[in-house]
Parts: sequence; C-alpha cells; structure tokens
Amino acid sequence: MKKATPLIIWLAFMAVAATLWLTLDNVFYLFNFLYIGTAVSVGVFLFGRGNKYARVAVQLAVGLYMLVYLGIIRRENMQIEGFWFYLFSGLFQSAVIHYLVAKIAGPLIFGRGWCGYACWTAMALDFLPWKTPKNPRIKRLGATRYALFILSLAFTIIVIAVYRERTEQVMWGAFIAGNALYYIAGIAFAFTLKDNRAFCKYVCPIAVFLRPASYFSLIRVQADESKCIDCGACERACPMNVKVRDPKRSRANGTECILCFACAKSCPKKAI
Ligand code: SF4
Ligand code: SF4
Ligand code: SF4
Repeated sequence: MKKATPLIIWLAFMAVAATLWLTLDNVFYLFNFLYIGTAVSVGVFLFGRGNKYARVAVQLAVGLYMLVYLGIIRRENMQIEGFWFYLFSGLFQSAVIHYLVAKIAGPLIFGRGWCGYACWTAMALDFLPWKTPKNPRIKRLGATRYALFILSLAFTIIVIAVYRERTEQVMWGAFIAGNALYYIAGIAFAFTLKDNRAFCKYVCPIAVFLRPASYFSLIRVQADESKCIDCGACERACPMNVKVRDPKRSRANGTECILCFACAKSCPKKAI
C-alpha cells in the first residue's frame, strides 16, 4: 500500500464534506463526512502499519454509525430503495448523497472500499468463519443482484404510487425489514457456500452501482511481476476471488476488489 493512501482518502472525504456543507448550507454533512473519512483513513493507516484489527474497527465505527444513527435513530432509509425514493422525491440529501459519494462516483477513487470498510451488512458477515472461499465463483448466480436491483426500483415506484401520505413511514419500515432480510440471506448464503462474502458476490444489488466506477479506481492492488514467484497465496487469501496476479485491468480484478489487503498480507515476497 502506498504511504499516501490514507491521506488521499481523507482529503477526498474532506473535499466532499466541505462541498456539501457550503453548497447545501448544512453543517451535518461536514460532521458526517469528517467522521467517516477520519475513521476510514485512520483504519487504512493502521492497517498499513500491520494492525490486524484496523479494518474491523473501521467497519464497526462506520457501519454501526450508518445503521444505528442514520438508519434507526434518524430514520433515513440508506438502503437502495431509500436512494430511489429520495431521488424520485427530488430530495438531494441523505441516501442520494450517500450513494453518489460511496457507491457511484467515489469508487473512481477508492473502488469498492465501501464494501471493505463501511458496509453494515458485510460488517456482520465478516465475523462468520468462512473468510476465504474454497471454490471459484459460480458465475450464473451473479444475475441475482440485477434482479434485486430492478425489484428495488419497482418496489419504490409502488410505494410512491400507493402510499402517498405515508411514504416516509413505509420506507423506514422497508429499511428495517430489508436489513433483517439481508442479514438472514447473507448468513444463509455464507453457510451454504462456505463463503462469508457469497452475498456480496451473488446477491447484493448495490454492487450494480459499485462496479462500473470501481473498474477505473485510482486506488487498487497490483502485483509486482518482478518480485512475484507465482505461489498463488494472494489469490487463495482473497475473499472476493480476485485475480490478483493479472496485471491488466479487467472485470475479474477491477470491479470485485474490496481493498481488504488480505492478499498483500499473505504475499511472502511483499510483491503487492
Ligand atoms: S457487496 Fe453489498 S453487502 Fe457486500 S459489502 Fe458491498 S454493499 Fe455490502
Ligand atoms: S484480498 Fe486483495 S484483491 Fe482480494 S479483495 Fe482484498 S485487497 Fe482486493
Ligand atoms: S502471493 Fe505474492 S508472490 Fe505469491 S503469487 Fe501472489 S503476488 Fe506473487
């Protein structure tokens, strides 16, 4: 990992914080992005110094903040249907900003860092015992995420059309029920496929947003071919089945990496 990575991440968050604070005249965004950006940057910095609990600490700090404070206490639906809902309502706030920063445009800089450091679903799934997948990806299962993506859109349109007076309440209920379903499905997939991140690979509709910009991510892992001895340890350690040794930017190594750096930790030649 480059030494400047935590600083780049922090500056990117600060740029967003200042822009939103000043343009929307709402100091909440300053504190929100200052908190998240600092938590992520400190975590990445500590991880770079070999602290093995750094990533899980960031996951808990950011994931719980978003789930408990923003979702349950402030009653904002931060799930994908919440994004559609606020977008269609013309409200440039909450979930819309969150999705633009963390999941649509931000991945141009930090790829799927959201998935590695902040997602409250994966925060829980990563505690399960199947940290490294024993089998290759099951390609045909990947279509599930697209079906759910369309379903979330259809659900939101129905809520807006049918529950005109109570949309906020219904969306908050959907946030609670949706999260419960995500946890149940995530655990069931992990248990069945013996893979903690199976839900991320096959089911999660948010990956549909995350993947296009991640392909061009500024921050990405790369194996140094001059040091690599082709032992394959990095790919065996990767929870997302990324082809770490492939020097080209491809779908297989460009859109699935969650920047967890398990590959770098496992490399005997420090080639990543
Ligand atoms: S793929 Fe979905 S569930 Fe997995 S970490 Fe990313 S946002 Fe969370
Ligand atoms: S192990 Fe390496 S390639 Fe795999 S997700 Fe983590 S950082 Fe990316
Ligand atoms: S772990 Fe390191 S040396 Fe082994 S294949 Fe991966 S990059 Fe090469």
